[in-house]
Amino acid sequence: MPHTDEPSLRAAADDWGHLVHHRPRAVARPSTEEEVVAVLADAERRGLPFAVRGQGHNTTGAAQCGGGLVVETGGLRAVHHLGADSVTVDAGIRWSDLLRATLPHGLAPPVLTDYLELSVGGTLSVGGIGGATHRHGLQTDNVLSLRVRTPGGEVRDCSAEQDAELFDAVRAGHGRHGLILRATLRLVPAPRRVRHVQHAYTDLAEFLADQRELVASGEYDHVEGMAVPGEDGTSWQYLLDTAVRAPEGEDYFEFLDAMAPQEARLRASGAWSHPHPWTNTFLPDSAADEVITETTIALSPDDVGAADGGLVLLYPFPTSVVATPGLRMPAEPVAFLFALLRTAPADDPAALARMLDGNRRLRERVLAAGGTPYLEP
Ligand SMILES: Cc1cc2nc3c(=O)[nH]c(=O)nc-3n(C[C@H](O)[C@H](O)[C@H](O)COP(=O)(O)OP(=O)(O)OC[C@H]3O[C@@H](n4cnc5c(N)ncnc54)[C@H](O)[C@@H]3O)c2cc1C
Repeated sequence: MPHTDEPSLRAAADDWGHLVHHRPRAVARPSTEEEVVAVLADAERRGLPFAVRGQGHNTTGAAQCGGGLVVETGGLRAVHHLGADSVTVDAGIRWSDLLRATLPHGLAPPVLTDYLELSVGGTLSVGGIGGATHRHGLQTDNVLSLRVRTPGGEVRDCSAEQDAELFDAVRAGHGRHGLILRATLRLVPAPRRVRHVQHAYTDLAEFLADQRELVASGEYDHVEGMAVPGEDGTSWQYLLDTAVRAPEGEDYFEFLDAMAPQEARLRASGAWSHPHPWTNTFLPDSAADEVITETTIALSPDDVGAADGGLVLLYPFPTSVVATPGLRMPAEPVAFLFALLRTAPADDPAALARMLDGNRRLRERVLAAGGTPYLEP
């Protein structure tokens, strides 16, 4: 039975960005595939548009539906089958819960995002990049099969071998080509512990060169990088993170779940619910030094809201590891994830407008340099 109470409608008219608000007429919370199918058939009979919402951690309003129905997938979280090299789950399960099911068996998906409280269906609808991407591609490159409720009302299983057109359309398809009901994901042997090392740089060119070298060496299980405020609080420093499996290292789940303490801090300060004007792009290697240098010169830590958790993510990966047709990649052998993950002040429309304008300009600059947008519908 769809919910029409005020808190449900208000929550469904919001997301991690807090920038776009489309108020739905109702919210459905199915917990089985049959309920999803029935709810959508009923919406279609009544001519009601609908959108699918995982954990609502996008920043663009993509999971909202003004005047329509929002179908929340949080109740669809069963683990159906755990095998030696794959797991079949409902699409609403969060990656943290999936890991809690697979890690006791010494298994994990090859690629995980930095934050584990995203839904499987939500990241498979956009891509899902992380520290293992330089080896294994995005999460959408590590899906074996999907069960999809298509816009035509059918429930179809698809994979690279069966109904490949649907499989290719749905991965990184932003929910436009059907609702992912369940996914079978590749699993690989998981380390119990990893040795995580963080190197700090003040020289951007040196940082980028070292990242390229580490990725090319193929020796690391995890390579990421970010720009955060330097010691003076106004300049940038660059942090290069690597991890390799090692018996004496950090517990693997704690390593993967590194955002949990940060989330607790930001929730306590209130910054977790500030607006998040984010821009995510893929930058071709040949333009990386120039565009990132320009950007970091023009940008102060305050411009990304660094005191409230804002940061700049930048790390390279070979584009040859990305096989998902829906992901637009720069036409070069190596690309960088270049993401301004800004946090705006709570009640400062002028600061927010400046951030949004800066994002627009950066996006144009990246596209002009042969880059591509990421996470955009
Ligand atoms: C703190 C934080 C950290 C992040 N870190 C990373 C990262 O490291 N790497 C990365 O790649 N991304 C990262 N993201 C971005 C994140 O991957 C995307 O925003 C993702 O879409 C969020 O998943 P969700 O479950 O919240 O999806 P939602 O925001 O609910 O939905 C996103 C889109 O997917 C569609 N959708 C959701 N579920 C389904 C489904 N079952 N079937 C069909 N369509 C569906 C929605 O309609 C919408 O278009 C991060 C986001 C946050 C807030």
